[in-house]
Amino acid sequence: MSRAPRPDGLVIAIDGPSGAGKSTAGRVLAERLGYTFLDTGAMYRALALKALRGRVRLDDEGALGDLARHSLIELTEGGRGVRLDGSDVSAAIRTRDVSAAASRVSAHPQVRRQMVARQQEMGRRGGVVLDGRDIGTAVFPDADVKFYVDADPRRRAVRRQEELAAAGTIADLDAIEQEIRDRDHADTTRPDSPLTRASDAILIDSSDVGVEDVVERMLAIIRERSG
Ligand code: C5P
Repeated sequence: MSRAPRPDGLVIAIDGPSGAGKSTAGRVLAERLGYTFLDTGAMYRALALKALRGRVRLDDEGALGDLARHSLIELTEGGRGVRLDGSDVSAAIRTRDVSAAASRVSAHPQVRRQMVARQQEMGRRGGVVLDGRDIGTAVFPDADVKFYVDADPRRRAVRRQEELAAAGTIADLDAIEQEIRDRDHADTTRPDSPLTRASDAILIDSSDVGVEDVVERMLAIIRERSG
């Protein structure tokens, strides 16, 4: 490795499909390390929300690219929230409609280019845990440690159902599982930066383990890597 160490610490990439528990584990991991957590999915979700509100067609790459250029998307303290053009949209981006729209919006290269550049800028100095789909492959191919967190679709659907219930939405488990499978399909088959496990990413299967165990496993690997 010829790259100089980053001044604020390591860059830790966490990729994987939706509902695998990446963001919960990533947030806890960042807290334990004193790092900044960057939920990159929240950025695509915020743009999708703006597109839905503005009735911008989700297949209109040019219009979505313009929308991204004219949007201020900020990840707030601790990676728990997101602000869109100055307003808190942390809850509004967690609906099923926004999930599906985010997957469509994120397929466009013009959108990805801008989001990736912003994420690279935010993580440039290190001391960050980034959660997404393309962190280890496109955003930071030279991340210090890369994880790929996966779990079987039914378990992911159960988690998603619990999250929705906590936010006051009751949804059918089979329908949620189908939505997750559809989103996996879209995310893994898009031509630009499809979701895939980087060859040097460490696989963690979270099907039968809780967040604390996932985080402990990650911490052990990070300590081992960073000596
Ligand atoms: O992680 P989350 O489910 O919030 O992401 C929403 C959508 O944003 C994903 O389904 C995916 O299409 C997109 N995304 C992406 N690249 C990332 C993070 C999310 O394409 N780095």
